[in-house]
Amino acid sequence: MPLDAASNAELAALVGPGGLLGAAELAARDPGNDPRNFGAGLLARPASTAEVARLLAYCHERRIGVVAQGGRTGLSGGAESRPGELIVSLERLDAIEAFDPVSRTVVAGAGVRLATVAALAVTRGLSPGIDLGARDSATLGGLVSTNAGGLAAFRYGTMRDRVLGLEAVLADGTVIGEAARVRKRNEGLALEQLFIGAEGTLGIVTRVALGLVPEAEWAATALVTVADLAAAVQVCDALQASSAFAAAAFELMSGNHVAANARQPGLAEFAGLARAPWLLLLEVTAPAAAVAEAGLVEALALLTERSVVGEAMLAQNDSQRRSMWRLREDWQIDRERPGALWYDVSVPLAEVPGYLRSLEQRIADHDPSLRLVVIGHLADGNLHVTVNAAAPLVGRYEEVAALVTAGLAAVGGSFSAEHGIGLEKKATLARLASPAKLRLMRGVKALFDPRGIMNPAKVIPD
Ligand SMILES: Cc1cc2nc3c(=O)[nH]c(=O)nc-3n(C[C@H](O)[C@H](O)[C@H](O)COP(=O)(O)OP(=O)(O)OC[C@H]3O[C@@H](n4cnc5c(N)ncnc54)[C@H](O)[C@@H]3O)c2cc1C
Repeated sequence: MPLDAASNAELAALVGPGGLLGAAELAARDPGNDPRNFGAGLLARPASTAEVARLLAYCHERRIGVVAQGGRTGLSGGAESRPGELIVSLERLDAIEAFDPVSRTVVAGAGVRLATVAALAVTRGLSPGIDLGARDSATLGGLVSTNAGGLAAFRYGTMRDRVLGLEAVLADGTVIGEAARVRKRNEGLALEQLFIGAEGTLGIVTRVALGLVPEAEWAATALVTVADLAAAVQVCDALQASSAFAAAAFELMSGNHVAANARQPGLAEFAGLARAPWLLLLEVTAPAAAVAEAGLVEALALLTERSVVGEAMLAQNDSQRRSMWRLREDWQIDRERPGALWYDVSVPLAEVPGYLRSLEQRIADHDPSLRLVVIGHLADGNLHVTVNAAAPLVGRYEEVAALVTAGLAAVGGSFSAEHGIGLEKKATLARLASPAKLRLMRGVKALFDPRGIMNPAKVIPD
């Protein structure tokens, strides 16, 4: 049934004053990572699980498509919406319900931002065990729904490893799950697990219980150059084996990514290092600042002596540390060469050099005008591969995806590491998943969402 003035009035009544925003109000708001996120032009802001349930029951009855949104930082198009659909934003489910530093758990609404949980946890020497560049906007519901990974996944796993329990609303308005806070819970089929990584296709996550991890207060950060990826893997291996500190970040950057960012104000001091083909942003933690720093300096000195590391720059203060992270997290190259194609793959760490060498060759053989830019969470073998050219690469996603995904399965890798399938990787999923897997995915979808209203046309190939 199409949405009209009458249904809008009914929807508004379900969420109360200020709970339903139309196109005019949305025009004044930030659509997030993609302007198409607000394509529906109608957004509901429920303030409780009960309101989410009433909204979904209404939409189920009338077969209205529903797109859940959190911080709208997703990178696979999962939060895009179209006219005739209803966006359900979880922004008003933003309460921390319980923080238990003894059990090391937090229970919070799906709209709570990652940075909020981190700021609370650190007051008791704890951390959510998940961190990523979009921390100030990404919400627990979105992180769960994309099974986000990020900077600390090599230590603490992805969201699937951090979630203890969750509450969700099914398409017909049924509420399931209790956000249980225990690490051991074998109670038959773990249906709540299906919502982790489902990208809003099975229902809406409303509450999340997370397990927290100890957070060492002191960190040391360094930027180092390496001549090739074999050396980068050696650095990763050596630092993870050290007993002097705990390795906390291994961010890989190709020289062209760093060179572009070093052209930005305040980052020129790194321009010299950007001549190297590959750089690593390294961070280690220890119970005392001096221990972290001395341990990292010693480890890097040894690696430099063995010619594994080229140049090494230790962050001298917090401001320089922040600049080093900007060098990793900014995307100046995308502004200089817009219209790039983005891929997100993972391979076992030892396979990274071979995979990237063969990918570079495949790209050069296919179209020499294409240029590769790579950043990644190296310890996970998670590579964010961007392919750009002098002009925007319109309509070439699948053609280049075939080059990027070639050989991944043979080495035990994945064509979709941490950003989810959304719309962008749906065709790749259809191409690479087995018929049995696709049949089961469709079956689960039909069971949870028989009328297909939840995030229509996303993730699951037709
Ligand atoms: C600068 C930057 C850095 C990033 N770094 C990383 C990184 O290192 N690792 C990583 O994994 N990701 C990263 N991302 C991607 C993104 O931050 C994550 O995917 C994040 O988990 C999305 O959270 P969100 O609240 O913004 O979700 P949204 O973008 O709003 O939604 C993402 C998907 O989840 C669904 N969804 C949202 N909330 C709910 C809910 N409550 N119930 C059901 N479905 C829901 C949406 O429908 C959509 O399909 C990065 C993004 C940016 C912009």
